[in-house]
Amino acid sequence: MQIIEKTLRTVIRDVYDFPKKGIIFKDITPIFKDAKLCEQIIDAFEQKFKDLDLDAIVGIESRGLLFGFLLANRLSIPFIPIRKEGKLPAETYKQSYDLEYGQATIEIHQDAFEPGAKILMHDDLLATGGTIAAASKLIEKMGGQIMAFAFVVSLDFLQGKDSIRPYCDRIFTLVDY
Ligand code: AMP
Repeated sequence: MQIIEKTLRTVIRDVYDFPKKGIIFKDITPIFKDAKLCEQIIDAFEQKFKDLDLDAIVGIESRGLLFGFLLANRLSIPFIPIRKEGKLPAETYKQSYDLEYGQATIEIHQDAFEPGAKILMHDDLLATGGTIAAASKLIEKMGGQIMAFAFVVSLDFLQGKDSIRPYCDRIFTLVDY
Protein backbone atom coordinates (compact mmCIF):
# COMPACT_ATOMS: atom_id res chain seq x y z
CA MET A 1 0.00 0.00 0.00
CA GLN A 2 1.28 3.47 -0.88
CA ILE A 3 2.06 5.76 2.06
CA ILE A 4 -0.52 8.28 0.91
CA GLU A 5 -3.22 5.61 0.85
CA LYS A 6 -2.28 4.48 4.35
CA THR A 7 -2.41 8.05 5.63
CA LEU A 8 -5.76 8.72 3.95
CA ARG A 9 -7.24 5.59 5.53
CA THR A 10 -6.35 6.88 8.97
CA VAL A 11 -7.38 10.50 8.34
CA ILE A 12 -10.73 10.04 6.52
CA ARG A 13 -13.43 9.81 9.15
CA ASP A 14 -16.48 7.53 9.05
CA VAL A 15 -19.63 9.31 10.21
CA TYR A 16 -22.46 6.88 10.80
CA ASP A 17 -26.05 7.62 9.75
CA PHE A 18 -25.22 10.86 7.91
CA PRO A 19 -27.03 12.40 6.05
CA LYS A 20 -29.55 9.67 6.78
CA LYS A 21 -29.81 6.40 8.66
CA GLY A 22 -27.82 3.52 7.17
CA ILE A 23 -25.25 5.69 5.32
CA ILE A 24 -21.62 5.67 6.41
CA PHE A 25 -20.40 9.09 5.30
CA LYS A 26 -16.71 9.35 4.42
CA ASP A 27 -15.79 12.72 5.89
CA ILE A 28 -12.76 14.17 4.09
CA THR A 29 -12.64 17.44 6.04
CA PRO A 30 -9.85 16.17 8.37
CA ILE A 31 -7.62 16.03 5.26
CA PHE A 32 -7.86 19.81 4.93
CA LYS A 33 -6.29 20.29 8.35
CA ASP A 34 -3.10 18.65 7.06
CA ALA A 35 -1.46 20.97 4.53
CA LYS A 36 1.31 18.45 3.76
CA LEU A 37 -1.22 15.72 2.98
CA CYS A 38 -3.16 18.09 0.70
CA GLU A 39 0.09 18.80 -1.12
CA GLN A 40 0.79 15.05 -1.45
CA ILE A 41 -2.67 14.50 -2.94
CA ILE A 42 -2.06 17.18 -5.55
CA ASP A 43 1.45 15.77 -6.19
CA ALA A 44 -0.03 12.31 -6.84
CA PHE A 45 -2.67 13.67 -9.22
CA GLU A 46 -0.10 15.86 -10.97
CA GLN A 47 2.26 12.91 -11.56
CA LYS A 48 -0.59 10.85 -12.96
CA PHE A 49 -2.04 13.45 -15.31
CA LYS A 50 0.75 15.84 -16.27
CA ASP A 51 1.46 14.07 -19.57
CA LEU A 52 -2.16 13.96 -20.79
CA ASP A 53 -1.92 17.41 -22.35
CA LEU A 54 -5.12 18.45 -20.57
CA ASP A 55 -6.97 21.65 -21.45
CA ALA A 56 -9.10 21.90 -18.29
CA ILE A 57 -10.21 20.23 -15.06
CA VAL A 58 -13.93 19.91 -14.37
CA GLY A 59 -14.84 19.67 -10.66
CA ILE A 60 -18.24 18.80 -9.24
CA GLU A 61 -19.90 20.84 -6.49
CA SER A 62 -19.27 20.88 -3.74
CA ARG A 63 -16.24 18.99 -2.51
CA GLY A 64 -15.00 18.39 -6.07
CA LEU A 65 -14.30 22.11 -6.31
CA LEU A 66 -11.55 21.95 -3.68
CA PHE A 67 -8.85 19.59 -4.96
CA GLY A 68 -10.09 20.18 -8.51
CA PHE A 69 -9.18 23.84 -8.32
CA LEU A 70 -5.84 23.15 -6.61
CA LEU A 71 -4.91 20.61 -9.27
CA ALA A 72 -5.87 22.91 -12.15
CA ASN A 73 -3.79 25.63 -10.60
CA ARG A 74 -0.81 23.26 -10.18
CA LEU A 75 -1.09 22.18 -13.84
CA SER A 76 -1.58 25.83 -14.91
CA ILE A 77 -4.82 25.04 -16.75
CA PRO A 78 -8.39 26.33 -16.38
CA PHE A 79 -10.75 25.03 -13.72
CA ILE A 80 -14.44 24.59 -14.61
CA PRO A 81 -17.10 24.17 -11.93
CA ILE A 82 -20.21 22.04 -12.41
CA ARG A 83 -22.82 23.17 -9.89
CA LYS A 84 -26.26 22.32 -8.67
CA GLU A 85 -29.11 23.98 -10.52
CA GLY A 86 -29.55 27.70 -9.92
CA LYS A 87 -26.04 28.52 -8.69
CA LEU A 88 -24.15 29.50 -11.84
CA PRO A 89 -24.90 33.08 -12.91
CA ALA A 90 -24.38 33.12 -16.69
CA GLU A 91 -26.03 31.05 -19.46
CA THR A 92 -25.82 27.33 -18.70
CA TYR A 93 -26.42 23.86 -20.09
CA LYS A 94 -28.22 21.47 -17.76
CA GLN A 95 -28.28 17.73 -17.18
CA SER A 96 -30.79 15.90 -15.00
CA TYR A 97 -30.22 12.47 -13.51
CA ASP A 98 -32.01 10.04 -11.24
CA LEU A 99 -31.39 9.82 -7.52
CA GLU A 100 -32.62 7.06 -5.23
CA TYR A 101 -35.72 9.21 -4.69
CA GLY A 102 -36.47 11.81 -7.37
CA GLN A 103 -34.12 13.70 -9.66
CA ALA A 104 -31.26 16.19 -9.50
CA THR A 105 -29.98 18.69 -12.04
CA ILE A 106 -26.45 19.97 -12.56
CA GLU A 107 -25.29 22.88 -14.69
CA ILE A 108 -22.22 24.21 -16.46
CA HIS A 109 -21.59 27.55 -18.11
CA GLN A 110 -22.13 27.41 -21.86
CA ASP A 111 -18.79 29.08 -22.54
CA ALA A 112 -16.85 26.84 -20.13
CA PHE A 113 -14.58 25.33 -22.84
CA GLU A 114 -14.14 24.99 -26.60
CA PRO A 115 -15.32 21.84 -28.42
CA GLY A 116 -12.52 19.28 -28.59
CA ALA A 117 -11.05 20.33 -25.24
CA LYS A 118 -9.28 17.55 -23.33
CA ILE A 119 -10.92 17.35 -19.93
CA LEU A 120 -10.10 15.67 -16.62
CA MET A 121 -13.21 14.96 -14.51
CA HIS A 122 -12.82 15.25 -10.74
CA ASP A 123 -14.87 14.75 -7.61
CA ASP A 124 -13.80 14.05 -4.05
CA LEU A 125 -15.58 10.72 -3.84
CA LEU A 126 -17.04 8.19 -6.27
CA ALA A 127 -20.15 6.53 -4.82
CA THR A 128 -22.77 5.21 -7.29
CA GLY A 129 -21.25 7.37 -10.03
CA GLY A 130 -24.63 8.91 -10.87
CA THR A 131 -23.44 12.49 -10.49
CA ILE A 132 -20.15 12.17 -12.35
CA ALA A 133 -21.82 10.14 -15.14
CA ALA A 134 -24.37 12.96 -15.62
CA ALA A 135 -21.52 15.48 -15.62
CA SER A 136 -19.67 13.38 -18.21
CA LYS A 137 -22.74 13.27 -20.44
CA LEU A 138 -22.91 17.06 -20.28
CA ILE A 139 -19.21 17.42 -21.18
CA GLU A 140 -19.57 15.06 -24.15
CA LYS A 141 -22.71 16.86 -25.40
CA MET A 142 -20.66 20.07 -25.40
CA GLY A 143 -17.94 18.39 -27.48
CA GLY A 144 -15.40 17.84 -24.71
CA GLN A 145 -13.07 14.82 -24.72
CA ILE A 146 -12.90 13.08 -21.35
CA MET A 147 -9.30 12.02 -20.86
CA ALA A 148 -9.48 10.67 -17.29
CA PHE A 149 -11.32 10.61 -13.97
CA ALA A 150 -9.69 11.47 -10.63
CA PHE A 151 -11.17 10.83 -7.19
CA VAL A 152 -9.65 10.91 -3.75
CA VAL A 153 -11.97 8.11 -2.58
CA SER A 154 -13.94 5.36 -4.31
CA LEU A 155 -16.63 3.31 -2.59
CA ASP A 156 -16.00 0.31 -4.85
CA PHE A 157 -18.87 -1.73 -3.38
CA LEU A 158 -21.28 0.73 -5.07
CA GLN A 159 -19.78 -0.04 -8.49
CA GLY A 160 -19.48 3.58 -9.57
CA LYS A 161 -16.54 2.75 -11.83
CA ASP A 162 -18.86 0.69 -14.05
CA SER A 163 -21.12 3.68 -14.65
CA ILE A 164 -18.30 5.96 -15.80
CA ARG A 165 -16.16 3.50 -17.78
CA PRO A 166 -18.22 4.11 -20.97
CA TYR A 167 -16.95 7.72 -20.93
CA CYS A 168 -13.29 6.86 -20.24
CA ASP A 169 -11.59 3.90 -18.62
CA ARG A 170 -8.68 5.87 -17.19
CA ILE A 171 -9.96 6.07 -13.60
CA PHE A 172 -7.51 7.09 -10.89
CA THR A 173 -8.33 6.89 -7.18
CA LEU A 174 -6.13 7.31 -4.12
CA VAL A 175 -8.07 5.09 -1.72
CA ASP A 176 -10.73 2.44 -2.46
CA TYR A 177 -13.13 0.94 0.05
P1 AMP B 1 -22.79 9.50 -6.45
O1 AMP B 1 -23.54 10.28 -7.47
O2 AMP B 1 -23.60 8.42 -5.83
O3 AMP B 1 -21.47 8.97 -6.99
O4 AMP B 1 -22.43 10.48 -5.24
C1 AMP B 1 -22.46 11.86 -5.41
C2 AMP B 1 -21.69 12.63 -4.36
O5 AMP B 1 -22.21 12.38 -3.07
C3 AMP B 1 -20.22 12.30 -4.29
O6 AMP B 1 -19.54 13.22 -5.06
C4 AMP B 1 -19.87 12.49 -2.85
O7 AMP B 1 -19.35 13.79 -2.63
C5 AMP B 1 -21.17 12.34 -2.12
N1 AMP B 1 -21.28 11.05 -1.42
C6 AMP B 1 -22.06 10.01 -1.76
N2 AMP B 1 -21.94 9.01 -0.88
C7 AMP B 1 -21.06 9.42 0.04
C8 AMP B 1 -20.48 8.82 1.24
N3 AMP B 1 -20.82 7.60 1.66
N4 AMP B 1 -19.57 9.55 1.92
C9 AMP B 1 -19.23 10.79 1.51
N5 AMP B 1 -19.73 11.40 0.43
C10 AMP B 1 -20.63 10.73 -0.30
